[in-house]
Formats: sequence, C-alpha cells, structure tokens
Amino acid sequence: MKLRLLLLTRCNRDCEGCCNKQWDLAALPQVKTFIGYEQILLTGGEPLLDPMKVIRTCVAIRQEAGYGFPIYLYTAWSKDIVRYLQVINSVEGIVLTLHQRHDLDNFRRLQEWFRRHPHFAKMKSLRLNVFSEVGEDIHDDQWKVKNNVEWIENCPLPTDEVFMRL
Ligand code: SF4
Repeated sequence: MKLRLLLLTRCNRDCEGCCNKQWDLAALPQVKTFIGYEQILLTGGEPLLDPMKVIRTCVAIRQEAGYGFPIYLYTAWSKDIVRYLQVINSVEGIVLTLHQRHDLDNFRRLQEWFRRHPHFAKMKSLRLNVFSEVGEDIHDDQWKVKNNVEWIENCPLPTDEVFMRL
C-alpha cells in the first residue's frame, strides 16, 4: 500500500480541474505512523512552497520507518531549480506536472539544468506529466514523460493508495 500524504493545502495555482476542489481535505485522517508503506507520495497543494516542510517530513519518515522504501515528491513547481536543490537529497524521485503552455519555458530551463548535472538524473527517479493544455509533446532521455494527460472525473483514489494529511 502507498501513502499519499498531504503536506499543505496552499498552491500558487488555481487549476480548474484540481482534485483538491472535490475532496474535503480537512476531513482527511491525520497520519499516525509512516511504518508499513511500500511508498510515500508527498503532495499538496504545492509542496515546494515550503521546502523546509518537505525536508522535515522526510526526516521524520526516515527516523520512524527507515530507508527501505522510496519517497516521491509530487509537484507542479517549475519556476526555478533552487527549491529542487533544497529537497532533492531527501527524496528518491520527483513527479513534476506541467499544466499550461507557459510552463514549457520554465521546464526547458529545468531540463537544461538536469542535463548539465546528469548525476542527479542517474540517482533519482524523474517523471513528468504533461497536460494536453501544454499543447506540445515533450520527449526527454532523463525524465520519463507521460504526454497528453487529462483531468480525471471525480479524481478517484487508486486502489493501492491511502490518502492522509500531516
Ligand atoms: S498545481 Fe496541483 S494542487 Fe495546485 S491547483 Fe493545480 S492541480 Fe491543484
């Protein structure tokens, strides 16, 4: 079972199909333990609005549950590399989502940075979800790309996940 963990509800975007508008986030159960999960997925809101919270949470997870499973960060932040550098040593992978056409320029800069520092891509799992609104398919040898992503009606939780908040 995977734990989807809501770190914060704030986001710098206001996506029309955002699942957070459909869920009662305040009613999510508060996580009591990090033990017993095969993966932990950190989500928001936008977790990279508060990189220190990401780091503190990863430390707490590792202190309690050890290192036998990966932590993945789910983010739509592509504005700058700085926040990635702050958290990258705390997680095993990043799942970045591009929602709009203007995200492309930001991603190109990020992509270039990862190309110039290939050891990060070798050590980390990098996955990229590209919404169809971006209007262009992306192909990359470092990021595992899923193009033409669409909003899913009612945002069903995958059967192998539980969703909790900090
Ligand atoms: S970036 Fe994610 S959390 Fe933020 S509004 Fe869009 S879908 Fe919701």
